[in-house]
Amino acid sequence: MMTPTLRLGVTGLSRSGKTIFITALIRNLVSGGRLPFFMPEAEGRIERAYLEPQPDDEVPRFDYEGHLEMLSRNPPEWPESTRRLSQLRVTIEFKSGSALRRAFGISRLNLDVVDYPGEWLIDLPLLEMTYEQWCAEALAQARSPRRQAHAKGWLEFLSATDPSAPKDEQTALRGANLFAAYLKAARADDHVLHTTGPGRFLLPGDLEGSPLLTFCPLARDAKQSYGRNSLAAMMARRFESYKTHVVRPFFRDHFSRLDRQIVLVDVLGPLNEGGDAVVDLQKALDAVLRVFRIGAGNWLTALFTRRIDKLLFAATKADHIHSSSHDRLEAILRVITDRAMGRASDTGAEVGVQALAALRATREAEAKVGNELLPCIVGVPMPGQRVGGKVFDGKTEAAVFPGDLPANPRDALRPNAAPAGLQFVRFRPPRVLPPGIDGESPPLPHIRLDRALDFLLADWLA
Ligand code: GDP
Repeated sequence: MMTPTLRLGVTGLSRSGKTIFITALIRNLVSGGRLPFFMPEAEGRIERAYLEPQPDDEVPRFDYEGHLEMLSRNPPEWPESTRRLSQLRVTIEFKSGSALRRAFGISRLNLDVVDYPGEWLIDLPLLEMTYEQWCAEALAQARSPRRQAHAKGWLEFLSATDPSAPKDEQTALRGANLFAAYLKAARADDHVLHTTGPGRFLLPGDLEGSPLLTFCPLARDAKQSYGRNSLAAMMARRFESYKTHVVRPFFRDHFSRLDRQIVLVDVLGPLNEGGDAVVDLQKALDAVLRVFRIGAGNWLTALFTRRIDKLLFAATKADHIHSSSHDRLEAILRVITDRAMGRASDTGAEVGVQALAALRATREAEAKVGNELLPCIVGVPMPGQRVGGKVFDGKTEAAVFPGDLPANPRDALRPNAAPAGLQFVRFRPPRVLPPGIDGESPPLPHIRLDRALDFLLADWLA
């Protein structure tokens, strides 16, 4: 019998935790993780799980072994983050819960995990835009008060550049570099994604330095027509090439083939910066999540989004706060994504929201401060991290009172909300240890990773 394949997309903005999530997910599946809320595992029905060769030759393989190697160093290091699309296949052998299916023997599922930058999802609306429309939108955004300072260099380039001048490679290159620098600066400063992309200007993946990215919007005059050999016509052709050779293949060959999707979100970082940063995060997600929301009857939906039937939003790095705040973190993410998703029912997918730590770097303890017992987290801060005025060397443990999240999740999204006052320390990851004398590897610690797996995979292992 054919082995069915489930394609699970893992996405999220840069540094949201995709690499760690996938590494931990695979490690927990293939070498005996502790997953009490992942029902097929809890019921003892998972026989074994193992890595299989990649089914798609042209897609880079997710560097699972390389990431594990970083985590097994002494001291352990966080692996490198996602910069491009990659994929890995895990085959799971399980005993079905149904007597009828059990009669056929052991069942098998191929789980293809697909890792890709969330930034690439903002490109979908480009497919419906002409170069002229894109120029008009990009210029309006660049001239908005919040963007102007970042866009200064590129806007000056535009005022000095005549779109009807003869096409010129050096001019195109300069414009593209200035435009990319502006998008990156705006992104770094306020988390907001330039909603008209292109996503690859933020994370080029394998297209770093490629001529496919040598274009930018120009200050066109809507009433003027531009000759074939003009700079404007050259830029328009490259914009169309980007759509044809980059955007369309990504959505057609990768995105549209996903069955399930998890979107990872780092809520704690922005929460700690204050309400404006949380609102910015919500806007960035709004741009990214548009692909899941486009209503029925739209041709883009028909082409690209019909397959995903379960969508999980996960707030990552929950080990930075005490377990008493995990439900609050989940509630805040629910409010953020509810707004970004509009009516979730439009997607036709079952939507879940969860807080988790795929790789738990801290443990909990209580510290006595005066007469009060404060719930703390304990871990080894990375070298150079500061806790209470002390700079850490990367070897010494510290107990940190992380602070409380707002009880009313809506408070987190008030634009003028004060920073959450969390002590946000970057901890060393736990070390991945080699198998002991019994051949068993100690399970990796996590928070609620098993619940996420249950939501995403359990019905395919029924
Ligand atoms: P991405 O691949 O760009 O989405 O992000 P990564 O998976 O590389 O995560 C970025 C950083 O976030 C890591 O280097 C860690 O410092 C931190 N991080 C990610 N997941 C966790 C987690 O579960 N716990 C903790 N404590 N930190 C995490």
